[in-house]
Amino acid sequence: MRILIIEDEHRLSNVVKKGLVEEGFAVDQAFDGEEGLYLAESEAYDLLILDLMLPKIDGLKVCRELRNKKIKTPILILTAKTKIEDKVKGLESGADDYLAKPFAYAELKARIQALLRRSHNEGDPILKLDDLELDPAKHIVMRSKKTISLTPKEFAILEYLLRYKNDVVTRTQVTEHVWDYNFDALSNVVDVFIATLRRKINKGFPKKLIRTVHGVGYKMK
Ligand code: CA
Repeated sequence: MRILIIEDEHRLSNVVKKGLVEEGFAVDQAFDGEEGLYLAESEAYDLLILDLMLPKIDGLKVCRELRNKKIKTPILILTAKTKIEDKVKGLESGADDYLAKPFAYAELKARIQALLRRSHNEGDPILKLDDLELDPAKHIVMRSKKTISLTPKEFAILEYLLRYKNDVVTRTQVTEHVWDYNFDALSNVVDVFIATLRRKINKGFPKKLIRTVHGVGYKMK
């Protein structure tokens, strides 16, 4: 899953980014509202973390512009403003949740997971297919209750495929949602990762769980 942090406090942005990258998220940063709006419109994000007081274009305006343009990416507002009317204004502008600074990283993380679940209409926090289970919050993958050890990128790809298990997922989608802005999309790295991932989750099991749809991409089955 790929997240854009729109926050002008570099230190805070970097701390949040570091935490999220360690969790396996692909993370981009924008340090003012204009850059944030541009990236949110042009790149494929699964969630936006948006500060309210930003240079150039303020957070509420960024939020409204995105919703006016029918961009439905979940938005978590992060701000020092804690007055009730500010929270209401944020939610009325189309944001999905609100977290006041200073915040505990654990709470941010829990809210991100909840928003991702909500945006995918997932009631269960564990993603499942057949005997395969993936826990996005705890970073655990199991098949028939046996833990499978994956690298953060393999984990991120499997999480993405499981969130879209009813669809065929293209290589471009995987690239856009698992890697950040600096990734070279021309390489065949996705295929390499899928091959290793397949080997790891299918080893010792008669049922093979990632199907290649030739010329299109992949499907969990
Ligand atoms: Ca700010």
